[in-house]
Amino acid sequence: MATRRASWLDAEGQQHACHFDHGAPAFEAEHPAFLAALLNATEHGLAARWDAGVGFVACPEQPSWAKHLLHGANLCTQHTVAKVWRDQTGWWVQTAEAPTERLGPFDVMVLAIPAIQAAALISPFRPDWAQQALAVQQQPTWTLMAAGLPPVSTGNLAEASREGAQRHQPAVIRPSSGPLALVIRNDAKPARGTAGTGFPCWVAHATDEWTLAHLEDPAEQVRGALLAALAGELEEYGQAPRAWAHAAVHRWRYALVAPAPTGTEAREDWSTQPCLWDPTLAVGMAGDAFCGTRARHTGVQRAWLSGTRLAEQVLQSLALHS
Ligand SMILES: Cc1cc2nc3c(=O)[nH]c(=O)nc-3n(C[C@H](O)[C@H](O)[C@H](O)COP(=O)(O)OP(=O)(O)OC[C@H]3O[C@@H](n4cnc5c(N)ncnc54)[C@H](O)[C@@H]3O)c2cc1C
Repeated sequence: MATRRASWLDAEGQQHACHFDHGAPAFEAEHPAFLAALLNATEHGLAARWDAGVGFVACPEQPSWAKHLLHGANLCTQHTVAKVWRDQTGWWVQTAEAPTERLGPFDVMVLAIPAIQAAALISPFRPDWAQQALAVQQQPTWTLMAAGLPPVSTGNLAEASREGAQRHQPAVIRPSSGPLALVIRNDAKPARGTAGTGFPCWVAHATDEWTLAHLEDPAEQVRGALLAALAGELEEYGQAPRAWAHAAVHRWRYALVAPAPTGTEAREDWSTQPCLWDPTLAVGMAGDAFCGTRARHTGVQRAWLSGTRLAEQVLQSLALHS
């Protein structure tokens, strides 16, 4: 549920900016509880159905709904938790950014991060959970974010772009071959508008196979290959940009939880559980590895269901001990 903002200067020195939802482009809601929460968010303008992308998006950008849910929480962001430990006062946290400081004590520790990353932190306290976490298969994704000069030579760029989007440009392309699996025009999503730039903003996700084959390639090389592929796709619609104004790539090492290969399913497969909670240690784990069949379009739903169930269990435990 990530969005990245990019800005650049044009030849006249004028600054432009646009946004790219470079993580989950949209998400589906099948479970009644998640659907109800989502419809409530939709009524409050925090989410919208996106027909072209099949599913829902948060508004005006992907992190907005979660930010709203966290309103009033005392957050410490932009810190990587490097180490956690526990003493008689509770849980303590050390971050990579401030290795000499410790944060805490906390009553409860919840790990809601990709399973492989959670394994290292939980291992000293629940080695059995760490072992299960390491069995979760994760699929990486290389993602391109690109903004191009619209394929028109005269007139107001913003207007031309808006008209272009309506008349010619598809909002979603699903290439049948080549390195790209999915191409999305970000500014055609609900509530994004053209962000006032007039530059069509594209997010393109590489296929699983291409990503795995190029996982460790230098970012510059990946950027070149994906940009060429994107230009090729847009050319088919007569919409290749006159020039690229901005292009960057992001490597999601743990983008999606993949189904376990047939015959190798772990006995304690997390997809059949809602979350993990140990009331004695006051520690829990939640995320998209739990709560369902690991279909790629329902990762957000699984994370929401799992987090909600863990929250219920934590609150029940705290109520019992207060
Ligand atoms: C390219 C892409 C396409 C996707 N497409 C879809 C889709 O179409 N539909 C769908 O439903 N889902 C999709 N997903 C998956 C969806 O985004 C995830 O399933 C969902 O976001 C998982 O939520 P989570 O809360 O479990 O974990 P995350 O969203 O991974 O959140 C975990 C957070 O913890 C942070 N973190 C990790 N380690 C640490 C640490 N040590 N200290 C501090 N912070 C840490 C991470 O930076 C991250 O912000 C896609 C994901 C990607 C990347």
